[in-house]
Amino acid sequence: MQIVNVWLEHSVMNLNRTFSYCCGDEVRLERGMRVTVPLGSQQVVGFVDSCEHSDLSAEEYQQANGFEIKEISELIDNEPLMNDELYELGLWMARQTVSTNIACFQSMLPAKMKPKGNRQKAVMEYYIELIDPSQATSNKQKAAVEALKNGGMLRSEFNRNYPGVYGVLFERGAIKVTAKEREAEVSNLEIREAGYPLTEEQKQAIEKINNSQKDVILLHGLTGSGKTEVYMQLAAQKCRQGKQVLILVPEISLTPQMVSRMTSRFGNNIAIYHSKLNNQERYEQYQLVRKHKVSIVVGTRSAVFMPFDNLGLIVLDEEHDHSYKQDSTPKYHCRDVAIHRAQHHGCKVILGSATPTLESYARAIKGVYDLVELKNRIYQNLPKSYLIDMQKQLRKGNTILSQPLKDAMRERLENHEQCILLLNRRGYTPIMRCSSCGEVIQCPHCDIAMSYHKDENILMCHTCGQTMDADIACPTCGSRSWLHYGVGTQRLYEAVQKEFPEARILRMDADTTRKKGGHQEILEQFERHEADILLGTQMIAKGLDYPDVTLVGIFNADALLARMDYRCVEVTFDLIVQASGRSGRGKRKGEVFVQAYNCSHYGIQLAVKQDYVNFFKREMNYRHIGTYPPYCYMAAIMFVSGDEGKVQKAAYEGAQHFRSIEGLRVLGPSQLNRSFDEYRHRIVIKSMDREKMIDDVWNWFQQLSYNKQQLRIQIDIDPYVMD
Ligand code: ADP
Ligand code: ZN
Ligand code: ZN
Repeated sequence: MQIVNVWLEHSVMNLNRTFSYCCGDEVRLERGMRVTVPLGSQQVVGFVDSCEHSDLSAEEYQQANGFEIKEISELIDNEPLMNDELYELGLWMARQTVSTNIACFQSMLPAKMKPKGNRQKAVMEYYIELIDPSQATSNKQKAAVEALKNGGMLRSEFNRNYPGVYGVLFERGAIKVTAKEREAEVSNLEIREAGYPLTEEQKQAIEKINNSQKDVILLHGLTGSGKTEVYMQLAAQKCRQGKQVLILVPEISLTPQMVSRMTSRFGNNIAIYHSKLNNQERYEQYQLVRKHKVSIVVGTRSAVFMPFDNLGLIVLDEEHDHSYKQDSTPKYHCRDVAIHRAQHHGCKVILGSATPTLESYARAIKGVYDLVELKNRIYQNLPKSYLIDMQKQLRKGNTILSQPLKDAMRERLENHEQCILLLNRRGYTPIMRCSSCGEVIQCPHCDIAMSYHKDENILMCHTCGQTMDADIACPTCGSRSWLHYGVGTQRLYEAVQKEFPEARILRMDADTTRKKGGHQEILEQFERHEADILLGTQMIAKGLDYPDVTLVGIFNADALLARMDYRCVEVTFDLIVQASGRSGRGKRKGEVFVQAYNCSHYGIQLAVKQDYVNFFKREMNYRHIGTYPPYCYMAAIMFVSGDEGKVQKAAYEGAQHFRSIEGLRVLGPSQLNRSFDEYRHRIVIKSMDREKMIDDVWNWFQQLSYNKQQLRIQIDIDPYVMD
C-alpha cells in the first residue's frame, strides 16, 4: 500500500503538520492533488503533500505504529493543482502569516479550479533528436544531421525541410523520435506603440530600472507623471523576450482606464483577473495563463497567485493601497508575495506610487530597493492647492461648502469644466441623536452609531449592514424629535444641488454602485462629460484620469486623523494627495480646495503642499518616538466570539503568555466594538526581530485547542489598519 501524507483543515487544532492515510499502490498520487479523507465523523478535503510505498498492510501498520491508518475516500484531481513553485509559495506564506498551509492553498486557487473529471486529452507532438551523426552518407542526409546538431526539431518541420531522409536515418539509428505533450504557443505578439514619444524623464526612468542591480525598485512619481506609460514600455520589452508580465492594481472597477489603456496597447495578449469575475470567468483567465495563451496579466491582489512559469516582471501599481492586504485569514500582503515570487523567477518588482508607504520609502532610502523618481507631470504642474479653515467658514454661515470652493465651482460650471468632490462618508448623516434625552441610536449587533440614509429613510449600520426604519421613537424617552449630526455623501449631494440647481451631479459610493457594473456606468457617464460634478467616497480618489477635471474639493479632510490607528496620518496624507492628483491632468490648469477643521496638523499641511519627502521625515520621526513600524515589527492577535467571557479569558491568557517572552512588547488586551454580535478583544505585539516574533506566535498558536466555532483567533502579522 501507499502511505499518503495530507494537509487538512482541523476544527480544533492549528497544527501545521500532515495527517497520514493509505491507499492502494495502483493509485497515482502527486503532491498538490486534492483528496477527500475521513476525519472523525466527517469527510474533509485535503491536499496531498507526499506519498511513500510501505510493504506493510494496514493491520501490520497499526500494530507497528499503535494507531489505525484510514483509507483515502476519494481522489478529486487527476493532476496537481499547483506546480512546485506555487506549492512552496503556499508553505512559505503559511509561515509568514501564521496560518495553516491548507488555508493558504485554498486562498491561492480560484474557487472552481478544476471541474471534476473533465480531463482533456493531451495533444502530442513528435520531436527528432540526433544520436549518431556518422551514419549520414549522402549530402542531403549530412545537411539534415548538421541541422539537428543545434538541438531537436519537430518531425513535421524536419520532413518539410529535409524531405526523403527521415526513414533511412531512423533505420540506421542516426536519430530517435520522442513524443511530447503539445503546449499552447504564446500568441503572436502585436504590441501597438504609444501615440507619443516618451519624455526625457520617462526614458531615464526606464534605463535606470533596466540597469538596476536591485530586485525591487520603488518608482516614486507624482500623480500624472507618466508611471503607467513606464510600466507599459517595460512590459512590452519583456513580452518581446518571450516572458510573462504581471501588473497588479488596487481595484479594477475603479480604474477602468488603466485596463482600457492596457488592452488597447497589448490586444488579446492580456488576461484580466479580479474579484468581480464569477468562478467560471476566473477559471478561464487562470487557464489562459497556465496554457501560455497570454503573457500579460492585469489583476488585483489574488492575481499574484496565477500559474506563471516564466515571469519577466512584476509591477505593483499604487503600492500604498490597502486593498493589497487581505483582511481575512491568511492575512498576507500582496507585495510580500510578489517579491517572493520574483526571487524565484529571477525578475524585478516595480513598486509604483505617488505616496509610497513609509516602509517602502525607508527601504529605498536605505538602499534595500532602488529609488527611481518622476518629478514632473506630463502636461501641467501640480494643481494649485488651498487649505480652508472650516471653523472660520462656520462663523460666516458656510456649513458644508466653503465660500472659496463655491466660487471655484461656479467658475468651472460656467467654463464647462468638471469637478470632483470627495467626502469619505456615505449616507446622509452619520449620527442621529434624540433631542430631548441625548440618546444615540446604535446598531443592535455592533455597538456603533447607525447612519441615517435619507434616500431610503432608513438607519443603516456600516459594519454589518443592519437596517431599520428611521421613523422611530427614542427607545429611552419616547420622543420623536431627532438631531442629525455630520455630513455624508447624500447630504453633500443635496447641498450642492441646492447651491447649483442647474448642475448635473453624479454620486458614487457603496450605495449607488451596488449592482454589477455600477462603478463603470457612473465613471463612463462622467468621462463622456454627461455630468459636471462627480461626488463620492474614497472610491473616486484613485487613478481617475479625466482631462476636463480642473477642480477637486476635499471635505472633512482631517476626519480620519481622529482614528486610534498609528497609520491614520499616513492614510490621511495619501487620500488628500491622491484625490488632489485628479485635478489638472490635461492641458488645463487645476485647483484643489481642502476643507478641514484642524488646519495646523502637519499631515494636512504637507498633503496640501504635496510634499511627500517632508511628510516622510516628520512621520518617521513620530513613528520612531512611539516605536511603530517601520521601527519595529508588529503582530495583532484578535479573539472573536459570541461569548464575552471566553474572549476575555483567552485574550488575557494570550497577553500573559507573550509578556513572559523576552524581546516582545505587549499592548492590551483591548476591547474593540462588538461587531456582527461578536465580542472582540485584541492584543498587539511589538518586536525588533520579525522572524523570532513569527516563531513565538506560531509556537503559541499551535498549542491552542479552542473549538473554532466557539472562539476564533485571527492573526495579523504586519497589520495594516487597526481600527
Ligand atoms: P501616472 O500613472 O503617473 O498617474 P499616466 O501614465 O497616467 O501617469 O500619465 C498621465 C497622462 O499623460 C495620461 O493621460 C497619459 O496618456 C499621458 N502620457 C503619459 N506619457 C506621455 C508622454 N510621453 N507624452 C504624452 N503624454 C503622455
Ligand atoms: Zn430620547
Ligand atoms: Zn451592525
